[in-house]
Amino acid sequence: MPLKTKTKILATIGPSSATKEQIEKLIDAGADAFRVNFSHGTHEEHKERVAIIRKLEKEKGRYISILADMQGPKLRVGTFIGAGVDLKEGQKFRLDLDPAPGNDQRVNLPHKEIFAALKPGDRLLLNDGNIVLNVDDCGADYADTTVVVPGFLSAHKGVNLPNTQLPISAITEKDREDLKFALKLGVDWIGLSFVQTAEDVREARRLIGDKAWLITKLEKPSAIDELEEIIKLSDAVMVARGDLGVECPIYTVPVLQKRIVTCCRKYARPVIVATQMLESMINNPTPTRAEVSDVATAVYDGADTVMLSAETAAGKYPVEAVKMMNNIIQQVEADPLFYTLMQNSRLHPCCGGEADSITFAASEIANVLESVSAIITYSSSGFTTLLTARERPNLPILAITPDVEVARRMALVWGVKSFINKESFKSFDKAENVAIRIATENGFAESGDHIIITAGFPLNTKGRTNMLHTVYIP
Ligand code: PGA
Ligand code: MN
Repeated sequence: MPLKTKTKILATIGPSSATKEQIEKLIDAGADAFRVNFSHGTHEEHKERVAIIRKLEKEKGRYISILADMQGPKLRVGTFIGAGVDLKEGQKFRLDLDPAPGNDQRVNLPHKEIFAALKPGDRLLLNDGNIVLNVDDCGADYADTTVVVPGFLSAHKGVNLPNTQLPISAITEKDREDLKFALKLGVDWIGLSFVQTAEDVREARRLIGDKAWLITKLEKPSAIDELEEIIKLSDAVMVARGDLGVECPIYTVPVLQKRIVTCCRKYARPVIVATQMLESMINNPTPTRAEVSDVATAVYDGADTVMLSAETAAGKYPVEAVKMMNNIIQQVEADPLFYTLMQNSRLHPCCGGEADSITFAASEIANVLESVSAIITYSSSGFTTLLTARERPNLPILAITPDVEVARRMALVWGVKSFINKESFKSFDKAENVAIRIATENGFAESGDHIIITAGFPLNTKGRTNMLHTVYIP
């Protein structure tokens, strides 16, 4: 079945979408990839969900990406004696290391690193930024604060410290266990939450090796400070607008989103725009106009993937949300302005290597040669395919790879459809025939069309794309 849309959909699995029937409906509605969120659920549940997705992948005959999203150092307050406390503007409130349930005077904050890093004048944001505390005085095991923005605080609510760089790794003890488990399950991507520095990404890479690709979630101002370096070190990036909009002033998020998407496109790193995309569909069968517009904007910006969180994980209308997203993507991509924007926003090749120049040239040919119907990339690592997608051509990109892992990872990449071919070719003619067969059998090309093939010569050598070929299909 030819790929109808370029922009991919990543849906989060949760209680609303955990059965085989439901996941199948999400795939049929247009989901390309799934997120299993290690902030919620048990290992047993994650294992079951991964098994269902892999089963459906076989049944549907298309490669699906699975992202295991690590919780990261999400900071939370402890518990309260009752349901919680109503914090009043101007009142004093203490945070401390005492695990006893809290009251209207104090609550536990079980992270000693926070107290070590806090200074008077720092601000603490609680419950998604809805409550703001100003630090008056602090020590090794307490912080005395004044409530600046009041609100109701209940157990385990999140704490954000936007302007304090904490001496903590992005990988907690829990994450290490979850990571081991996720890699054993054979997930394709690992999501790294609350990355503060480029060093966090390097540390994750040392743990993950090449067992999965790494998605850095950008949700801390300090990570934005090292944006370019972090993007280069990551395999993909998520604009994690939920926490980003708490850590940074919310009105700066659209600008950050554009900056991140542009920088990812420059370095050929897939970029996912996430959180609250169709938020009102958690409870309603139709979204707001503003939400529809938000999804469309991400697509017009050239994001590789748009994500659904609670909409599919815990909402009442998971299938409708995916359908809606798919409809929006179809509309935008059918707009001639979309490709004009994609072409006008192409950036000059970044890496200056053989693969970069070949893939750049391939998309130039696609713009001139009218009868060309697809770009075929022979890619063993997926890198050449990423470079091809970087050019945002108005053509399907078919990735032919020997590895199922690579085929699956490409499900998050703009415009790419993957095929597996394990033959090792003796001659280019053979590779050409396979490319023609895959393109025609799957409805991407027909007699009278040209296809463009990029490959490495000698064939099947890893990491060398040095050949560009146009092929006429008789
Ligand atoms: P989360 O990440 O849903 O895991 O918090 C995304 C975000 O913060 O936007
Ligand atoms: Mn987050």
